[in-house]
Amino acid sequence: MKLILRGHHLLCLKGFQGYGYDERFTNNMIDVNEKRRQIDTQISLTDTHDDICKSCPNLKNNLCESELQNERIVNMDREVLKKFDISKEHNSVELFEKIDEIFNTKESVSKICFECMWHEKCLFYQKLSNNR
Ligand code: SF4
Repeated sequence: MKLILRGHHLLCLKGFQGYGYDERFTNNMIDVNEKRRQIDTQISLTDTHDDICKSCPNLKNNLCESELQNERIVNMDREVLKKFDISKEHNSVELFEKIDEIFNTKESVSKICFECMWHEKCLFYQKLSNNR
């Protein structure tokens, strides 16, 4: 199994608890979240549209909403991607374990999650401590 995921979606998947933009998006999110838990799943990392965006109503001309919003999203992706080698595929289970190790305080996700509209529904964000 192979998945393509943009950087910030590694955090979103960890925090997902069934909310989404519409039914198609949410069903796909459930599917991707199940696939990423399988021990033989390999993940390619990206800072552009991915296997989650492909079912999102906000994706327009392969951009997230608009040029401006897309730029903001890409910056979020790159904050995550700079911690990983994006030239190779990653074992999904190991990759998500590293996410837990690297992003373990609210400060560590300050450039990624602070302005996200899903704050209050995101289990990953809610579990982070305020410790530096
Ligand atoms: S298109 Fe934008 S809002 Fe939709 S899943 Fe992709 S990054 Fe998220």
